[in-house]
Amino acid sequence: MNSSPSHDGRTGAKKSKLIEGATGDWEVVIGMEVHAQVTAKAKLFSGAATAFGGEPNAHVSFVDAAMPGMLPVINAECVRQAVRTGLGLNAKINRKSVFDRKNYFYPDLPQGYQISQYQSPIVGEGEVLVDLADGGTMQVGIERLHLEQDAGKSLHDQHATMSLVDLNRSGAALMEIVTRPDLRSADEAKAFIGKLRTILRYLGTCDGDMEKGHLRADINVSVRKPGAPYGTRCEIKNLNSIRFIGQAIEHEARRQIAIIEDGGTIEQETRLFDPEKGETRSMRNKEEAHDYRYFPDPDLLPLELPPSLLADLASHLPELPDEKKVRFMREYALSGYDAGVLVAERETAEFFETVVNGGAQGGGARRDPKLAANWVINELAGRLNREGKEIAAAPVSAAQLGAILDLIAESAISGKIAKEVFDIVWSEGGDPRAIVAARGLKQMTDLSAIEKLVVEILAGNPDKVADAKRNPKAIGWFVGQVMKASGGKANPQAVNDLLRKRIGI
Ligand code: ADP
Ligand code: MG
Repeated sequence: MNSSPSHDGRTGAKKSKLIEGATGDWEVVIGMEVHAQVTAKAKLFSGAATAFGGEPNAHVSFVDAAMPGMLPVINAECVRQAVRTGLGLNAKINRKSVFDRKNYFYPDLPQGYQISQYQSPIVGEGEVLVDLADGGTMQVGIERLHLEQDAGKSLHDQHATMSLVDLNRSGAALMEIVTRPDLRSADEAKAFIGKLRTILRYLGTCDGDMEKGHLRADINVSVRKPGAPYGTRCEIKNLNSIRFIGQAIEHEARRQIAIIEDGGTIEQETRLFDPEKGETRSMRNKEEAHDYRYFPDPDLLPLELPPSLLADLASHLPELPDEKKVRFMREYALSGYDAGVLVAERETAEFFETVVNGGAQGGGARRDPKLAANWVINELAGRLNREGKEIAAAPVSAAQLGAILDLIAESAISGKIAKEVFDIVWSEGGDPRAIVAARGLKQMTDLSAIEKLVVEILAGNPDKVADAKRNPKAIGWFVGQVMKASGGKANPQAVNDLLRKRIGI
């Protein structure tokens, strides 16, 4: 892997990512440190539950409360999850890693130190392929992934004069995933975190729930003139939404450019993002930086992974989004864009495949993949998005959508009526075929019935007929009238053909 400043693992990107300043163009350089809470029933070094919510301090063992004499015991499931994540990031798995103490006082971390990994992390260098909004792709280098303990939570709004501490989260396992400074814009950073979230969710190693703080990122930002060496970076702590990540980068880059263009220099510091104001402000500078006095935790032996464990985990990985996308393009002849949208959530991809193949399993033919993709992306996902629903809670099942597509394929209903049927199923449920029959929505395929409507409408509008003879495009008006007269049930192609025949164009 190459991470030199000139390296650019991008394909097909067109849009300029440079920011225009008073002295010319600037390039933003971004590297991320992402904290992902490991999906596991128990904490990293104790048997206490990791369940979200619950009464404060209900999930706290003596280890988490740092009672004297307590010894940490590594949770094997957290180790497996970290290794699986490393495999999903195409990264080197370190057969031997070491847990260190990172010493600092934090009111919601009673040990007085955090058990983390420093020089010998469990996962080394890897790479993530990111799809960009402009259709291009880029590779983002992963520097490392290490396991560490999360801290608890201080509550400042529960009491007039005191802060209270909830240790439920204290000791939960986090994976810290560190990227190389490979990102060059807010959009790239947003696309990267989105892709990382997708991979974690496919693997089932982190639920990616940013609102609950299960996935959050520290963002390192610097600016430079294109081709110049890297500038001094500032780190923006603890962003827990993709939108905030974008806003923080935009603001921070412009702040740094303004300082440098004014003749100033950037001091390396830690900053916080204020979502209300949309700006970053200083939290602590280099002088105030912590000296963590890392040293290997004497309570824990180095972690050694047997080769059989790696082989076993590797052979049981699910199909990951990149592979699934390639397979969808090959197997269903979908565009890269459609395939990319469908695989972004594993449940959406599965829904799509059930729609396409459900007919085949039910003894029918495989359904048209392009049509199925359009319906899943535009009608289903679009509506879920508007209503803030997850696909698991979709009111229209894959079987119901499949039945609607069958009705279209049989020419029983037009695309327009199909959307009506979809809306009915969405709000009332039911079998699409029965709905079409009961409400008389079946398309008119009886040509003589359609022709009757055509003749009536032509007879009532002689001037418009003359128009259409001169300008065949004017036929659109007649199509609309006939469709209306048929209650949207006439086959549009038949209407068109009959109109042309009768008008003589
Ligand atoms: P430290 O040793 O202080 O932890 P690292 O070199 O490990 O610093 O980098 C921490 C994070 O900062 C990484 O995500 C890395 O990509 C990013 N980073 C490093 N240098 C720069 C820079 N000049 N501009 C932006 N990000 C940077
Ligand atoms: Mg580092």
